[in-house]
Amino acid sequence: RPGASSSLQAWVESIERRARSRLGGGRVADYIPALATQPADRLGIALCTRDGDLYTAGDAEEPFSIQSLSKVLLLSLALRSHGDALWQRVGLNPSGMPFNSLMQLESERGKPRNPFINAGAIVVTDHLVSAYATPVKHLQDIARHLSGNPAVRIDREVLASEWQHRARNAAAAYLMKAFGNLNNEVDAVLETYFAGCALRMSCRDLAIAFNYLAADGVTQAGGQPFIPPAMAQRINALMFTSGMYDAAGDFAYRVGLPAKSGVGGGIVAIVPGELSICVWSPALDTSGNSVAGQYALELIAEGLSHLRRGTP
Ligand code: GLN
Repeated sequence: RPGASSSLQAWVESIERRARSRLGGGRVADYIPALATQPADRLGIALCTRDGDLYTAGDAEEPFSIQSLSKVLLLSLALRSHGDALWQRVGLNPSGMPFNSLMQLESERGKPRNPFINAGAIVVTDHLVSAYATPVKHLQDIARHLSGNPAVRIDREVLASEWQHRARNAAAAYLMKAFGNLNNEVDAVLETYFAGCALRMSCRDLAIAFNYLAADGVTQAGGQPFIPPAMAQRINALMFTSGMYDAAGDFAYRVGLPAKSGVGGGIVAIVPGELSICVWSPALDTSGNSVAGQYALELIAEGLSHLRRGTP
């Protein structure tokens, strides 16, 4: 139900206007050349309540490259099929390092710190490559199903660009393979990992798709819960501690919500039990997090706490 409450709709629009003041800050990611052409002046916001009410503002309907937001989907799928056995191969602690760092991987014998850095997501992807005959198609199908949008697709240009510039991710994958922490061929795992990153979705699609984290595992698509309530709670906990890379602590202090960012400029944030939020603006800070997007979330979190306390 779009815009069910007109005052909430007006509030979301006012946040979008205020956050536009931050559009000059940061830089669009260019280490994946196909992302460098993203327009820096975009800003979108979408909020989806657990009851399915939807509030959007700005460029909320424009699809963008979801990049590391896919790591949340990968983790949900892997936990669903493998449960806690996953944690023998990937850790649960913040890395305090950039998302593509290789340093700890060598000293920690091929076990990545957490599932939201690249190396961690590559191990999680390895599980999916083992579990599904056509993992890339499966990812696209799940993204379509959860968002309710059959037009969601993998951006072939971004995929090709990621593949061409895969050196660092390939290095992480080979190192883990050398330590015996990757069961499938490196190329097959990387292809699936990049395909997830290259999914194109809008703020609206993503707020709907990730609503299960705000709703104890129940999706907006209906039917069986996607994951059990305890699993949703644990994924939210991991997003809180590691979802914003080495800036997770700063972000927790400023916003205080579980969140996951991607270098396409998207950030998904969750108010457990209540709301899923997606903001998007392509220009990033040095940690790889959207500048205007983080500010919009700061304003949203501030507004929500006023709402709870009943202060204006
Ligand atoms: N596809 C990107 C990479 O592997 C994802 C990184 C990100 O969004 N932080 O480098």
